[in-house]
Amino acid sequence: MEQAYEAFLAEQRAAILDRVSDAASRASRSADEVELMAVSKTVGPDEVVAAWHAGYRSFGENRPQELTRKLTALAADPCMDEITFDMIGNLQKNKINQVLGNVRLIQSVSSPHLAEAISRRAQTRGITVPVLLEVNISGEESKSGFSPEEVLSMAEDLVSLDALSIEGIMTMAPARDGDAARRTFSGARELREELRRVTGLPLNTLSCGMSDDFEIAVEEGSTLIRLGRIVFDQEYAPV
Ligand SMILES: *Cc1c(COP(=O)(O)O)cnc(C)c1O
Repeated sequence: MEQAYEAFLAEQRAAILDRVSDAASRASRSADEVELMAVSKTVGPDEVVAAWHAGYRSFGENRPQELTRKLTALAADPCMDEITFDMIGNLQKNKINQVLGNVRLIQSVSSPHLAEAISRRAQTRGITVPVLLEVNISGEESKSGFSPEEVLSMAEDLVSLDALSIEGIMTMAPARDGDAARRTFSGARELREELRRVTGLPLNTLSCGMSDDFEIAVEEGSTLIRLGRIVFDQEYAPV
């Protein structure tokens, strides 16, 4: 990777961390509560290595095949042992085995069916899979995920899936609308509270915030922001 690109990644990371820190202060939170994930779905393994050198340790991928490609490419590099990948995209049932055991967290458990299927396959392997429930807070038809009502009404069933460890929720806000983003993130935070009461689980992770809306997400309580373009794209300009 070119020196100039590595320098870009490091400068950009420092600027992002400053903005996270400012947003956290505005909400009387500590920036340490917010994990910065680099979404590497649009770049190759070399860019991931460069991002690792710039300080990133957690990465997100949305396609199992691409995840496998990156893991294979990175396996040869012994310095990358602290690296983790999360699955953050739509997961088809026939791809579950490709992902199991290869990711820290599956953030995109978007339906009861998928939850059951993952649990069943994990049980077969004798492992427990940390997951987030993906919730469609904004109600946009284009978005996948549980509806808030569904996640509450099914909470007991989901918790009873032995091979899943439910760590929190993940959501995405409507694009290019700051007010709608804020409503989505505060809705996610409130839903997590309610789900905590119903399940008794700690649900430590609230995964929300992308390149265009991560400061709003941090102000509203996000513990994990998933940034793609602002991390990797030198042409990126905020909306
Ligand atoms: C692509 C993607 C991101 C990152 O989006 P940017 O706007 O590029 O920051 C975050 N979360 C999910 C689920 C994604 O698919």
